[in-house]
Amino acid sequence: MSTKAAAILLTSSLLLGACASATESAVPADSSPQSGQNDTGKSGTAEQTPPSTGTDTAAGGKAPGAGKNESSETGSESEDVRSAEEQPQKLYRMNSAYNIVPIKEGGAEKKIVLLTFDDGPKDRVMVDSLLNTLDKHGAKAVFFVNGYRVKEHPELLKQINEQGHMIGNHSYDHIILKNEPIAKVRKQIKDVQELVKDTIGTAPVFFRPPNGAGGDVGQQVAKEENLLYMTWSNGSLDWTMKKSDPNKKQALIQNVMDQLHPGSNILMHELPWTVEALDELLTKLEQKGYSFVDPGSIDTEASK
Ligand SMILES: [Zn+2]
Repeated sequence: MSTKAAAILLTSSLLLGACASATESAVPADSSPQSGQNDTGKSGTAEQTPPSTGTDTAAGGKAPGAGKNESSETGSESEDVRSAEEQPQKLYRMNSAYNIVPIKEGGAEKKIVLLTFDDGPKDRVMVDSLLNTLDKHGAKAVFFVNGYRVKEHPELLKQINEQGHMIGNHSYDHIILKNEPIAKVRKQIKDVQELVKDTIGTAPVFFRPPNGAGGDVGQQVAKEENLLYMTWSNGSLDWTMKKSDPNKKQALIQNVMDQLHPGSNILMHELPWTVEALDELLTKLEQKGYSFVDPGSIDTEASK
């Protein structure tokens, strides 16, 4: 088997069953086969190439101020809602492989990862633990939420926001959007925009379709709502694991480390084993010289 074929197979298996409803196709439906520009070092990365074009040209030129965003979190009790003037500088953009890269070559640290947690907010204990671990590592993340979960736990959404993390739109009901009529897709996405805005005062700027399968309709509605559409480029595969798997924590960490590359957009979920693995995972990433990009420093306009 050729290396490329192996890579495709591995990619397929990595993507299998994204976002917990495991019967979807292996590769997000709106991705096309590899077209070469993935910037991963190792063989197996869950990269997709979206149909969109053109966002991946490197902006040349050196810029000072490589220092990233602030990450000096002292206590989880502190209010951390940032006003407009406290927003970090927009030093990063997302490229067409869903990786997070400096807007200007040399203008920001390349060895970063984006941490994302989908399908919540579900549970006070899990959210508390995730937030505490993120604080411990001075990391900010994107929480891609479902509307029906927010309806059940608005207080958790507020807490995530108050601790300086970003809220992403993951559709209202976690349904596969790609084959739905556009009116339904609009409702799935717009209802979350409104609910989140009503709950925390600001609407999401990031959108991730359930199972990575937004299709043309998902892309179109994201555009209408001025949302940055993303799937991921490093799948932890936490959604494939079961309670009874004895080594799931180590397997999850290994999955991420195997796919690790600069700009990794890491997909995780609000699941007990992910909560349990997070501290060790973040420590391992730090040991490899990676830091955690503040999602607030991603220029969503420059990414489209
Ligand atoms: Zn999901």
